[in-house]
Amino acid sequence: MNALAATNRNFKLATRLLGLDSKLERSLLIPFREIKVECTIPRDDGSLASFVGFRVQHDNARGPMKGGIRYHPEVDPDEVNALAQLMTWKTAVANVPYGGAKGGIGCNPSDLSNSELERLTRVFTQKIHDLIGVHTDVPAPDMGTGPQTMAWILDEYSKFHGYSPAVVTGKPIDLGGSLGRDAATGRGVLYATQALLRDLGKGIEGQRVVIQQGFGNVGSWAAQLIHENGGKIIAVSDITGALKNPNGIDIPSLLKHTKEKGGGLKGFSGEADSFDPSSILVEDCDILIPAALGGVINKQNAKEIKAKFIVEAANHPTDPEADEILSEKGVVVLPDIYTNSGGVTVSYFEWVQNIQGFMWEEEKVNAELKTYMTKSYDDVKSMCRSLNCDLRMGAFSLGVNRVARATLLRGWEA
Ligand code: GLU
Repeated sequence: MNALAATNRNFKLATRLLGLDSKLERSLLIPFREIKVECTIPRDDGSLASFVGFRVQHDNARGPMKGGIRYHPEVDPDEVNALAQLMTWKTAVANVPYGGAKGGIGCNPSDLSNSELERLTRVFTQKIHDLIGVHTDVPAPDMGTGPQTMAWILDEYSKFHGYSPAVVTGKPIDLGGSLGRDAATGRGVLYATQALLRDLGKGIEGQRVVIQQGFGNVGSWAAQLIHENGGKIIAVSDITGALKNPNGIDIPSLLKHTKEKGGGLKGFSGEADSFDPSSILVEDCDILIPAALGGVINKQNAKEIKAKFIVEAANHPTDPEADEILSEKGVVVLPDIYTNSGGVTVSYFEWVQNIQGFMWEEEKVNAELKTYMTKSYDDVKSMCRSLNCDLRMGAFSLGVNRVARATLLRGWEA
């Protein structure tokens, strides 16, 4: 099922549980604005190349729209729409004062040089600068982008509007980025997992964890922090391959290997066996963490999954059809719009620090993040209890209900 169909289906199930009226449902679903721009840049060899860029601004009832910009070959309008909508529910679940947006450029960043990426980012910013802003829409990194991308957007935006560090989050620390932002999504995944396990009377110590597509920004931080807290990472994969060790992989050595060699997991000389990455989702484990692409858990592989818990660090990794199969098998799924909300939560802290002109210590950032993640877990759970539903519907209903309330309070009927 495509990302947008899957997201719309979850949204509709939640509106039914909440008993929202159909006019309000429609108004919450349709994006506020969809932007599509053509970005033409000179390549380093002098030829011209064109890329299509998108920004979908889904909803702003609760505050400025917020969400990442993704550089990936599979970026398409439906996917950006789905991800923008997920941001609306995610910021509401996290209870940060934002709406939702998402952007992307259909490109393969590893095929572009650093200066080509800079030109592409600047041209994209020139085309959308009038539609983003500190109090309207605040971009951040996502797959294929990072602090440097945000620095270029900030610089280009500032040429038109004056220096405004709060127009993007996930910036380099030297330009007003927040301490702890880089690790925030992965750290949030740790706090979310701990909240779930605590609720079930368990701890993370000794849990056997598998991380799929796990050595990007989100997965590598989650692996490191889960390992530091006593979890046993027994398998990981990325685009270069997969590694497993039933006694636990030496994560600090693996991180050292990926940082020093720069080529992913491949070539790791520590104690671990290589295996086919396509079978990682069905490895025997306690906790499975999909950490990058959407739609990886579907009706074909859901039956074979052996994990007791699926912790969704990626956005929309599980198809609704797979959700049904997993629920029949008794697998508990901790949903994306809660699990990976640590990134946007620390983005909010960064924005607040920029607006205040005051920098927080990293300890304060991490402690506040823990408070937010723990509180939103409790909020999701109490929604599950009052609507008698699973965690995904608890999270969707919580998010949709908060946005619906804000929309009604602002007076959506003319
Ligand atoms: N791209 C991240 C996400 O999907 C972070 C968004 C943000 O910080 O605005 O949640």
